[in-house]
Amino acid sequence: MPDWDLLLTDVRIATMCESTAPYGVASAADAIAISDGRIAWIGEQTTLQGKTASVQRSLDGRWITPALIDCHTHLVFSGDRASEFEQRLQGASYEEIARAGGGIMSTVRATRDATSEELFDLALPRVSALADEGVATLEIKSGYGLELDTEIRMLEVARRLGEETAVDIRTTLLAAHTVPPEFVGEADRYIDMICNEMLPQVAERNLADAVDAYCESIAFSGPQVAKLFAAAKQHGLPVKLHADQLSDCGGAELAAHFAALSADHLEYTSPAGVRALAAAQSVAVLLPGAYLTLGETQLPPIDALRSSGVAIAIATDCNPGTSPICSLRTAMMLACRLFRLTPEECLAGATRNAARALGLDEDRGTLEIGKRADIAVWNISHPRELAYWVGTPQLAELLTGRHTTRP
Ligand SMILES: [Zn+2]
Repeated sequence: MPDWDLLLTDVRIATMCESTAPYGVASAADAIAISDGRIAWIGEQTTLQGKTASVQRSLDGRWITPALIDCHTHLVFSGDRASEFEQRLQGASYEEIARAGGGIMSTVRATRDATSEELFDLALPRVSALADEGVATLEIKSGYGLELDTEIRMLEVARRLGEETAVDIRTTLLAAHTVPPEFVGEADRYIDMICNEMLPQVAERNLADAVDAYCESIAFSGPQVAKLFAAAKQHGLPVKLHADQLSDCGGAELAAHFAALSADHLEYTSPAGVRALAAAQSVAVLLPGAYLTLGETQLPPIDALRSSGVAIAIATDCNPGTSPICSLRTAMMLACRLFRLTPEECLAGATRNAARALGLDEDRGTLEIGKRADIAVWNISHPRELAYWVGTPQLAELLTGRHTTRP
């Protein structure tokens, strides 16, 4: 009986563990063993001492890192917003377009009109594109239905994407994305409907792993979000928040108050908001694709986040309106260029800290014994290249815990 299922040798290992070694590089280790879909051993080939594996392969000196994790996407939707993109280039603001009934409402209409099969077929190539660049875990939010049936169908489609691809999908109920046309001027009543009708069904059917909301003057107020989050907690669901994207609404403080897994965007977050996130140990998810697409100039408080010790994650925010970007590698490069994050911070933001933003840090996000064997094998000379090249196919292989489980 072999000791392990799989043994990879001649490998350079960036564990991305928090350590003094850049990229968590295990300098002496050149081999990694996997059993039952988990990392079973990391060490030096010369110390194997007769240990064997069902399959042993040399990776010819290639680098491995934890598989990438995209912790904030809206990639189940129908329609597109290319015409709005054109309008914005001609000077219209996101708020103007939203107030005129355009923007997100056009995506809501198209998504409501689409069948579940159509939504699945549209989303599948987006999931594949992310997997092709090393993503093994990604989060998908609802939020383009804004009514019971379509919100549930979006979550079902997201769950099915996880069942029919090698990517592990985490789902988030974002019914409080914006006020639907049926509830204009009655945001409180809509929040009550989510709390009393939608949340119980979603929780009962285990369709969501978390609950999210959009706290902003064009969406929901702090008290409305607080009511929703209290209900989410009653159903045992962790929360996340689209916070302080267009103005300082106290979103970071609100997220921290509910011990949110993450607060996302954060361009207008105040120093007090950063301190609150640090105290709550919530992850700051930065979304440079939305910053770029909206032509935003207000930078998130990067230095304050760093000095306060807030973990920073990077995600695509893949969505048709404000971040038509289906490439986590691109988001990493943009975070370097626009936010001045280091390539190492970006890679940590797409692995270790992204796992934490999904509540999965005990399970994945670093290469450590016991963690899920989600491993990206790269044709690169150094891990810093992962936040540098865009559009270059450098993934040699993507191993996931699912595929290395003993049959
Ligand atoms: Zn978003």
